[in-house]
Amino acid sequence: MIVFEDVAKRYAGGYSALAGVSFEIRHGELVVLSGHSGAGKSTLLKLIPVIERPSAGRVLINGQDVSHLPPAAIPYLRRNLGLVLQENRLLFDRSVFDNVMLPLVITGHPPGDAAKRAAAALERVGLDGRGKEMPAGLSGGEQQRVAIARAIVNRPSILIADEPTAHLDPAYAADIALLFRSFNDAGVTVLVSTHDAGLFAASRPRRLVLAKGLLAEDSSTAGHPAAE
Ligand code: ADP
Ligand code: ADP
Repeated sequence: MIVFEDVAKRYAGGYSALAGVSFEIRHGELVVLSGHSGAGKSTLLKLIPVIERPSAGRVLINGQDVSHLPPAAIPYLRRNLGLVLQENRLLFDRSVFDNVMLPLVITGHPPGDAAKRAAAALERVGLDGRGKEMPAGLSGGEQQRVAIARAIVNRPSILIADEPTAHLDPAYAADIALLFRSFNDAGVTVLVSTHDAGLFAASRPRRLVLAKGLLAEDSSTAGHPAAE
């Protein structure tokens, strides 16, 4: 359902962030993407919702080649994706509840249904009853939970998160890692990047490791060189 075929990404100025990256993620997998800072993790994740486009190769989501997707089609693609990305900050002038409802409001959901779903999503991340608060009054870990609630409020089949545990105390980070596992247990395909793959080890995820833009390791093919 997420296929990368020999994907390369070169940024303006010629910097090669990804080269020759190929893998296939099946429905229902839990995949942890790790690698040092600058290895290309964010770049790889941004190719899936077409925030960036590959310079070479193909990216397929649910069978659709999104590499050359027309701009008008991008919102439809993103409706099926839950995104927890670095640049998608919470809106600090709106309540927690309004932040979580926003994706539904934008897509024209009936307000009553949107409110019910937002309440369910907040409950799902352990923040039931906190909707009326403002994000600034929440801890870093709670703010990250709000961002996750906002990402799943559309009930996406694929959840993508870029370093969701960065800047969190270890105990909060471990809770967030478990939360992703619980979504995966509910059938959601989860792709999450981290520089601390150990946080997710207990969930026995598939591990993809990037090193300087190259896929250095894929635990699903480890020990099976014939599967290359
Ligand atoms: P990671 O998420 O693993 O830290 P990134 O994907 O953010 O890695 O970055 C990979 C490389 O691409 C880095 O060297 C970074 O400086 C470069 N890079 C990222 N975004 C841009 C951009 N918009 N323009 C130019 N270079 C970029
Ligand atoms: P509801 O019908 O009220 O949404 P469900 O029992 O169908 O409740 O869902 C259980 C919980 O899972 C809900 O609280 C919902 O917010 C949450 N959820 C939202 N999106 C997803 C998803 N993609 N996968 C799994 N659970 C999700």
